[in-house]
Amino acid sequence: MEVRVRYAPSPTGLQHIGGVRTALYNYFFAKANGGKFILRVEDTDRERYSDESLQDLYDTLDWLGIEWDEGPVVGGPFGPYIQSERFELYRKYAEQLVKDGKAYYCYCSPERLEKVRQEQIASKSEYQGYDRHCANLTDEERAEYERQGIKPVIRLRVPTEGSTTFHDVLMGDITRRNRDVSPDPILLKSDGFPTYHLANVIDDHLMGVTHIMRAQEWIPSGPLHILLYKAFGWEPPVYCHLPMVMGKDGQKLSKRHGSTSVRDFRTKGYLPEAIINYVTLVGWSLDGSTEIFSKQELEKCFRMENIHKKPGIFDYKKLDWFNGYYIRACEDERLASLMTPYLQEAGFISKEPSEDEKALVMKLVGPCKERMKVVSDVVELSRFLFEDKPVEDVGVYVAKGSDEESTFKALERGSKILISGLEAGKEEQEIEEELVALSKELGIKVNGVFQPIRVGLTNSTVSLPLFDSIRLLGMDETKRRLGRAIGILEAIHG
Ligand code: GLU
Ligand code: ZN
Repeated sequence: MEVRVRYAPSPTGLQHIGGVRTALYNYFFAKANGGKFILRVEDTDRERYSDESLQDLYDTLDWLGIEWDEGPVVGGPFGPYIQSERFELYRKYAEQLVKDGKAYYCYCSPERLEKVRQEQIASKSEYQGYDRHCANLTDEERAEYERQGIKPVIRLRVPTEGSTTFHDVLMGDITRRNRDVSPDPILLKSDGFPTYHLANVIDDHLMGVTHIMRAQEWIPSGPLHILLYKAFGWEPPVYCHLPMVMGKDGQKLSKRHGSTSVRDFRTKGYLPEAIINYVTLVGWSLDGSTEIFSKQELEKCFRMENIHKKPGIFDYKKLDWFNGYYIRACEDERLASLMTPYLQEAGFISKEPSEDEKALVMKLVGPCKERMKVVSDVVELSRFLFEDKPVEDVGVYVAKGSDEESTFKALERGSKILISGLEAGKEEQEIEEELVALSKELGIKVNGVFQPIRVGLTNSTVSLPLFDSIRLLGMDETKRRLGRAIGILEAIHG
């Protein structure tokens, strides 16, 4: 039997890490089994729906390179794949259930339902749910309601006896007494809109879905869905509910922890390879130790059995590590084109970069590669080339463990070593050794010499490697800035 899985998001917000992980698991599972990956848009909640969310769904999957075999845009044999375009179908199936006695029309007004609720709270101090008032209406009673023009909802007739069990690949059997399942939930609203449960079950069946991998928060809906499959006389698919994604504090991942939308990560300059690799590892592993996986590898080796039972912990630092790894692995040309928009945004290069600007960006790639965690870091790392605001605060030049006096000496003598060394054509390593020797002579740490030089050249303590910065600035500018820095410190220590 062909494996058919789906990602079925509701476009009510930006795609977040948890949702994308669900998409990835379904996608990789389909690929690894030679099956089909379906995208289905569950947009029945029209109040929370937004066009922006739908566009974000497409953009995010595009960016990650996750192509769907069937779904919106590409179509497929079981379309449409957007639920709001399938309303007629849901009505038809709900009415079929009524004909078969598995569901019934309910004409209760919101006021009546509220009264029932209040009475239940008053008498039993617990809300029991709908009182099944319309479960056994006579034809005359129904006709009377219809005459009054009341539009009914359709409710599922949940058995009052027995229990319902469904099997989950990770959690095993999950059993619930039928009387604990919501009494006769609404399947079709009076305006013809299906509820999530109805549309979800009908679509999974009609689209031939064989395995459902979705968030664990849907487990409570499991028994109801099984009852629906039974009512229709359909075979339920295999369930695999995915453990939650948590922050490091063990709480469900949320904005409190940091960015959660993929769009945010993309804006900051995370690479799709890093997101795919790391997010897949939040709750899945091949052998407990392999960390680096390309998308192509995951398309081959993903197994449902290797999904963890425990919640996954999303560690932002770990994602940074993966991103750094993929930045260093990135082709220079591609990295240059990824860096360009940040440099344009910062006003460092023009919207239509000249040949010189393009060449400069290419020159930045090598040095930046080593230092960037995210591509947007290029702005701070390269600011010194495009803006020159000397640091006037002497404290910034002074490294930990050094003092103003030693810093001045280190800068003055260090600059000489550096410039004369470079002009004499010495090896970088040799010059570096001389600077280290200087730090020993002055009785300060190595950074006590490098920090004032770095701040003098780049106006910052975070910067590209020293010799790269010098190459980018050119010799004249290097001399000018070092001289100026000496002047700033001299004003105090001359
Ligand atoms: N539309 C539901 C969601 O966004 C789908 C749940 C499911 O996969 O069944 O969570
Ligand atoms: Zn009713």
